[in-house]
Amino acid sequence: MPVKKIAVYLLLLVLCLCAGCGEQSDVKKSDIVLDTAVTLTARGKDAQAAIDESMARLKNIDNMVNPNVPDSDVSKLAQNAGNGQWVALQPETYKMLAVAQDYARKTNGAFDVTTKPLVDLWGIGTDHAKVPTPAELAEVQKKIGWQKLELDEAKQSARLMQKGMGVDLGGVAKGFAADEVRKIYARHGIKDGLINLGSSSMYALGVNQEGKAWHIGLRHPRKDSSEKMAVLPLKNEALSTSGDYERFFEAGGMRYHHILDPRTGWPAKSGAMSVTIVAADNVEDGGMLTDILSTAVFVLGPEQGARFLSSQEGIEGAITDGRYQLWTTGNMATELLEVSPDFHFWQESGETL
Ligand code: AMP
Ligand code: MG
Repeated sequence: MPVKKIAVYLLLLVLCLCAGCGEQSDVKKSDIVLDTAVTLTARGKDAQAAIDESMARLKNIDNMVNPNVPDSDVSKLAQNAGNGQWVALQPETYKMLAVAQDYARKTNGAFDVTTKPLVDLWGIGTDHAKVPTPAELAEVQKKIGWQKLELDEAKQSARLMQKGMGVDLGGVAKGFAADEVRKIYARHGIKDGLINLGSSSMYALGVNQEGKAWHIGLRHPRKDSSEKMAVLPLKNEALSTSGDYERFFEAGGMRYHHILDPRTGWPAKSGAMSVTIVAADNVEDGGMLTDILSTAVFVLGPEQGARFLSSQEGIEGAITDGRYQLWTTGNMATELLEVSPDFHFWQESGETL
């Protein structure tokens, strides 16, 4: 055999061996679910099956919480509001409501899924967004309040005490869904992957294709979407972000965003521009908690919010405020990379949070 031919065979052999023993590549799929652009990435022999099952699961969760689906759990709750009837719920919806109520209690109502009539009145993110009149606000405020949502754990049922009430799981469902996908990945033996629900709720597992921690860009709250406030490496952690730049409209020089303070009826004016929360993999319902907490901490504001976060085991956060201060809890300050020079870390003045 000529030397040239042998060399070619040897090269082919080396290439085949490399392909055989080499790394598997990422499997990726995107779709619009839960009103958001979802991208699922997974690596491993069962990656395709894990991703297909996860997409189906996301659609199934969407059908439980979507107010535009007539027989969804949230539609049934609204239809029966004020008539005294208990509504039997899917276990998933029950769980989201139970944890939401727990955090409504813990945050004194800063987080409140019964803000639905208020969300509808403002219409932020729709083509009919408007600043309501004081009379409209006063009327709608009578129909909100987490104490008027009753739960029966034994019967996995709920009821809303007043006609016109409703629940909105927009601040819970994406985080819950990230946890569900994470469980599907685990059942399929997926150790490396990224679960990305519209960048607002994510779950990172293992490492990326280059063998490094997944690097998540945190958006600069006052620059266009390609500009970062910082980069956060994640390894086996859940993350959610809430920001006043996500959905808003401007009128009379004011910015009206989608995170409402149920206690005032207005978009929260807590001083926060964005809140990012991270939960360790061993935190039960970590994805859902980051989702709830990012919204709750936004309403509470940097100071109260950071204090609250410090009391939560396995959870840490980064909050930007309108003065471009960056408030952090846990180890977040040392974990953030490429922090934009526009921001400076908030300095404690003696007191601990
Ligand atoms: P997020 O983007 O996760 O912060 O969630 C915001 C979404 O949750 C909004 O679009 C509303 O649907 C809903 N929401 C707004 N304000 C609140 C609040 N204070 N408590 C609970 N849910 C809220
Ligand atoms: Mg949230």
